Amino acid sequence: DAAINRIAAGEVLERPASAVKELAENAVDAGATRIEVVIADGGKTLIRVTDDGCGIAAHDLPLALSRHATSKIDGSDLLNIHSFGFRGEALPSLGAVGRLTITSRVPPETAARIAVAGGVTDAVAPAALNNGTVVELRDMFYATPARLKFLRTDRAEAQAVGDVIKRLAMAEPFITFILRDASNGDQRTTFRADAETGDLFDALHGRLRSVLGREFAENAIAIDAEREGFHLTGYAALPTYSRGAAIAQFLFVNGRPVRDKMLLGALRAAYMDVLSRDRHPVAALFVDCDPKLVDVNVHPAKSEVRFRDPGAVRGLIVSGLRHALADAGH
Ligand code: ADP
Ligand code: MG
Repeated sequence: DAAINRIAAGEVLERPASAVKELAENAVDAGATRIEVVIADGGKTLIRVTDDGCGIAAHDLPLALSRHATSKIDGSDLLNIHSFGFRGEALPSLGAVGRLTITSRVPPETAARIAVAGGVTDAVAPAALNNGTVVELRDMFYATPARLKFLRTDRAEAQAVGDVIKRLAMAEPFITFILRDASNGDQRTTFRADAETGDLFDALHGRLRSVLGREFAENAIAIDAEREGFHLTGYAALPTYSRGAAIAQFLFVNGRPVRDKMLLGALRAAYMDVLSRDRHPVAALFVDCDPKLVDVNVHPAKSEVRFRDPGAVRGLIVSGLRHALADAGH
């Protein structure tokens, strides 16, 4: 029912960046090797995510738009979630807050499309597409002007979209990510990271260069530490490559981008003795553990996590980074 969809949608979709996050994560889940995102006016008038993933069969298109329909979980193991999505909420929510079109093809079938606006779904129709999926969301929140008022400037919203894509790109170095801005007619590429090759550390290093720049990549120390079932990997910059703002701290838990106070606090604490208070460390850190040791789904839209043993994770980050910094002479 459209009203319920709209209320639930507000939980997950606060702004264009949250829509982009859901759509790009779906593309990752679909096994895409290339994900292209086009936005206009900060994503307010247009978000288009194109992937080369497995596609959605024509007869499954209406299902993808129905609430709690997900192809990603069988209900038996809510704790063992490996893909990003598992709630089956994003697409119906997007269809409730904007004009949504999904075009997809699962070869050798022909391509099909479905459209939904304000919660009202059209019939599946034939379409033209070679492979993968194109999801287009136009006029987000057009039916709820009150929500539109809460959005920030186009520039701020576009920046939030860029941030989402960069975080996901960091988590998925073997996937090509392209972000384009199509405001005022012309289209320009605002971010591009081509798929990396090699082992995970090589790939991650290459991806760091694309996202944080060459200077960071060349002055980052590799981190690899383990403790009580938690594995910490990634790169952390030498204190001399700190920033004046906390904008370059990328944290991942079991491959999923998170923003978690405890983890950020541990990162800060690790640098406490080598950085002045007004400087912020730059790092991309991956914590991996048995999914049973962490709940990554505290809230659908907020990327918080809850560890069974937060003390162990904090200790691992602080000691892992301090040892690496000491080895590098700091
Ligand atoms: P969830 O990701 O939580 O399963 P969504 O509402 O985001 O829920 O998507 C619903 C379903 O639609 C997914 O489970 C998946 O089967 C399908 N789907 C969505 N996006 C894509 C995509 N880009 N490629 C292939 N399948 C997709
Ligand atoms: Mg999803």
